[in-house]
Amino acid sequence: MEHAPRPRISRRTVLRRALRASAMAALAAPLAACGLIEDDPTDGGLSILGTATPTPSPTPETPVPTDSPDASVTGTPVAPQPPEVTLDPPDVGQGETAILRVKQEGAASGSARMLGQRIPLLATGDGLLWCVVGAGLLEPLGPATATIDTRDDAGRALSEVELPFNVVVVDRPVDYLTASPEVTAVLTPEAAEIEAALRTYEQFNLFQALPRWNGELRIPVDKFIQTTAFGQGRSINGGPVTGQHSGVDLAADAGTPIHAAAAGRVAWTGAMPIRGNSVLLDHGAGVVTGYHHLLEIDVTPGQIVDAGDVIAKMGSTGFSTGPHLHWEMTIYGVNVDPMTWTKRAFLPE
Ligand SMILES: [Zn+2]
Repeated sequence: MEHAPRPRISRRTVLRRALRASAMAALAAPLAACGLIEDDPTDGGLSILGTATPTPSPTPETPVPTDSPDASVTGTPVAPQPPEVTLDPPDVGQGETAILRVKQEGAASGSARMLGQRIPLLATGDGLLWCVVGAGLLEPLGPATATIDTRDDAGRALSEVELPFNVVVVDRPVDYLTASPEVTAVLTPEAAEIEAALRTYEQFNLFQALPRWNGELRIPVDKFIQTTAFGQGRSINGGPVTGQHSGVDLAADAGTPIHAAAAGRVAWTGAMPIRGNSVLLDHGAGVVTGYHHLLEIDVTPGQIVDAGDVIAKMGSTGFSTGPHLHWEMTIYGVNVDPMTWTKRAFLPE
């Protein structure tokens, strides 16, 4: 099983994030929903894969001996064709996903540096390299650049090109709600610190390399009311808008079966102070889905599940005001809107 380890993030950064998350989360508490908020993806964690996938040393070009008989016949060696690079969609919304495709004859591997990350490219075997990438909810708006390097099957550098794109705003309505002191009592600094450490050191520290999804994702609950969308800002009791919802809340009766959104490997199960009982599925290529506030967990770490398999039952554990599923999606730890993945397939071709 191939794995790509994840980034080094200092404990100081985790603590800083935890304290900030706590301060922000303490102001958020929807009805039959939760106030889980997005970490600041621009802070600290953006060297994702930076330590795991070191920058390849440029391979010095092999000089062609001028007195070689071959050289006199073939002349100057042919430079590799530049890659054909596309980003889909061409501009990336905050909290949204894009797929990067790189087509180049002879390309066998590579990486893309963009949105503060260095992401390994996957090869389909016919000269097409690709990856999915997420823009954080707090990713700065405006012009950005992707730098893509490619290598041949011997690991020799083929090319490095840049692709300009824009990070664009996505209209996400504000969630106005009233919260009681009891609801927010769960949100202590200690709880936020434990939660952040679990995510950093246990849940997002290892990723399967190869993707397991093969189309659009399945919404994990069959009949539900969506109580809060992804990325919605929160205004509590008429106060200022603080934090953005890190997933989508799907409410139904306690005990409602929860299905795997796509095939994957159970990466983590257990209790989190704020997200409650949780299951995380690793779908490969950096893509992880999280299922939270569960009443019951029906899978064990390491288990392989198919799309649609029942993995848990809906509950209201952790910071929650009623039975619902808080469903998250992350790409190399960056939260993106999972509902986007239920409407289109992020596949290389
Ligand atoms: Zn939620």
